[in-house]
Amino acid sequence: MMRRVYLDHAAGRPVDARVIEAMLPYFIQKYGNPSLVHTPGNEAREAIEVAREKVARLIGASKKEEIVFTSGATESNNLALKGVALRNRDRGNHIITSSIEHMSVINVCKDLAKQGFEITYLPVDRYGVVDVEALKKEMTERTVLVSIMYANGEIGTIEPIKEISDVVHDHGALLHVDAVAAAGQIPIDVEAEHVDLLSLSSNDIYGPRGVGALYIRSGTRIMPILQGGGQERGLRSGTENLPGIVGMGKAAEIAGAEMEVESRRLTVLRDRLIRGILETIPVSFLNGHPTNRLPNNANVRFSYIEGEALILSLDMEGVVCSSGSACTSKTLEPSHVLLATGLKHEEAHGSLLFTLGRQNTEEDMEYVLGLLPGIVKRLRVMSPLTPKELVADV
Ligand code: PMP
Repeated sequence: MMRRVYLDHAAGRPVDARVIEAMLPYFIQKYGNPSLVHTPGNEAREAIEVAREKVARLIGASKKEEIVFTSGATESNNLALKGVALRNRDRGNHIITSSIEHMSVINVCKDLAKQGFEITYLPVDRYGVVDVEALKKEMTERTVLVSIMYANGEIGTIEPIKEISDVVHDHGALLHVDAVAAAGQIPIDVEAEHVDLLSLSSNDIYGPRGVGALYIRSGTRIMPILQGGGQERGLRSGTENLPGIVGMGKAAEIAGAEMEVESRRLTVLRDRLIRGILETIPVSFLNGHPTNRLPNNANVRFSYIEGEALILSLDMEGVVCSSGSACTSKTLEPSHVLLATGLKHEEAHGSLLFTLGRQNTEEDMEYVLGLLPGIVKRLRVMSPLTPKELVADV
């Protein structure tokens, strides 16, 4: 049987077996509606509050009431940006974000621009680090919200959130952080880092899909974007996804308990993969920050070939990886994140994204390193752009 090496965890993760076990009773035995006061309702409500506490703990929130469960990070980002922008319109109409955010931030900003908001997209350096000096210059008294991701899941770069937070709060604005890629991999502390709103996705911490959360610091002025039965303190109407929320809580608990050891393990595997590629494949480069990057992220580029061709060749050998953000790769447009770091279109197209996860082993890395140089060489031989000397001995 062909070996299967899954290295696309930014796009989708398996649900942890312990999470599924925790969820099961809430499908078949404990299915009460948490809004009701009978025994099954009370049981359900209690389970949700336990999950809320676990999610709060993962990000250092001081009160569990600061967590609102949503249907995923897209909804969390929509609620954070629209909810804060529209509620604080009397204070200003200026929002600052970065050019490397997820589409669920960028497209919400585009929509808010149509509603009269002014949006500033901050540049990043060649490693994908947000320009804090540019942030200082762009802040005005009309700036109500700044939205910057904790880390970029595509190039792995971790952003200077504390520094950004200081600038934002010096100017009296609010800070929203999309922590989908960072959560469960690196420590997050919304108190120490003074974050006002923070988005999370359950699947990115090995929980079920279709669940997410938004941390909202107590006292933050925000309005709901879904109206209905008033669940989640009126901020997110709709009958709660009970098994999903229980699953996300369990996933947060496991992530918090295992993060330190697991992240150290993944960093070793990631570095082996990156070093192995750069040493054995000529004209290959690392995308993103060389050291300040997520433990599970290796994004590399190869001159003279298309990432898509590489993905298909690796897939035929059982290795699953990606060319960029799962959400935009369907369009075959080069990644906006890679372009923002200054790469040319053809450089962005020649990039491969490996995102590691819990089931990956050292053998997996060796398997990829055994295959990749040969595949790259074969594709380069076929490419009319490849300089002859690079493939001379074939
Ligand atoms: N933000 C980031 C950084 C993401 O990678 C994603 C996709 N996992 C989202 C937001 C949106 O998450 P979802 O598709 O679960 O709504």
